[in-house]
Amino acid sequence: MNSLAPYAAHPAQSLGRHFDELPSETRNAFQRDRDRIIHSTAFRRLEYKTQVFVNHEGDLFRTRLTHSLEVAQMARGIARTLNLHEDLTEAIALAHDLGHTPFGHAGQDALNECMRDFGGFEHNLQSLRVVDQLELRYADFDGLNLTFEVREGILKHCAIKHAKLLGDVGQRFLDKTSPSLEAQLTNYADEIAYNNHDIDDGLRSGLITIEQLSKVELFAKNLAEVKSKYPALEQKRLIHETVRRMINTLVVDLCTHSAQNITQHQPQSIADIRKLPPLIGFSSEIAAQNLKLKQFLRKNLYQHYKVNRMSAKAARIVRELFAGFFENVGLLPNDFQVSAEIDKARAVADYIAGMTDRFAIREHRKLFTVEEYL
Ligand code: MG
Repeated sequence: MNSLAPYAAHPAQSLGRHFDELPSETRNAFQRDRDRIIHSTAFRRLEYKTQVFVNHEGDLFRTRLTHSLEVAQMARGIARTLNLHEDLTEAIALAHDLGHTPFGHAGQDALNECMRDFGGFEHNLQSLRVVDQLELRYADFDGLNLTFEVREGILKHCAIKHAKLLGDVGQRFLDKTSPSLEAQLTNYADEIAYNNHDIDDGLRSGLITIEQLSKVELFAKNLAEVKSKYPALEQKRLIHETVRRMINTLVVDLCTHSAQNITQHQPQSIADIRKLPPLIGFSSEIAAQNLKLKQFLRKNLYQHYKVNRMSAKAARIVRELFAGFFENVGLLPNDFQVSAEIDKARAVADYIAGMTDRFAIREHRKLFTVEEYL
């Protein structure tokens, strides 16, 4: 552990948990949160949930579990460089995708559409709902009873209408204040991780090519560097060497530019951080290059016709599952039938959001295929 900066989050000064607990004898509050997240059911399910590629498409692609581990690794490294709290960043990183539906964004958009008249569906809010309410493991409380700082980090975006209903963690969206630097940097680690692993997975799948990517400055510059140093390198290593240099370019720039922002604003405490504009960020030059990379991926990978075909199927599965359960709550497992008595649509959404890709596919078959064994 590094020596903590005065403006880092400190577990002993945490704004606390909803349900008071005795401190752990061996771990600080953020370490304990991290451990609770790792032991949660939702965390284990990340193994079979995907972002771009559906889980059964191949064993080499990232899943939400490996993505979350990559985010945690990067976030921890950035936190250490900036003397921020590593355990807090790790806890936020490991929990940040817990609320994702099966089938990545296609699944989330479909579920949001189904929930349009019932308050909508948003994965950040759902991640918070998982750790606050849906995990049922502890005798004294529902959820994982995490510290404010981890919950604040999980909720990276939030519409005002939702923020008003959330109490403590919603307040900053109403006040327009900033979260901890640990939360800010984990957000960037998430973005660096997925942009770069989508390039890697995209190239491996053949949906995008090195030739196409050569028009993206961030990729082209690093590719040229690798090629000049290792002219005979085979393609697999060439891609990896290029991607790792891209990640390094982004991480080093983020650390350097953020450190400059911190020096400029001289925060003395986490209270100062909350009042200041966000201090974690890229330089304008790298921010522009990173944006180009995102635009490239949106156009060439996320909207590739083969991805669109899978997304359309995924959306149909989610829509039909929602309609089927909503029409007849008797088809839901017993505990969801109990919550459906309070809020039918939300109970159905919680059930579907908790599914892995393969579970959703099987559940759809069980509901709609007469021959399927129940
Ligand atoms: Mg993520």
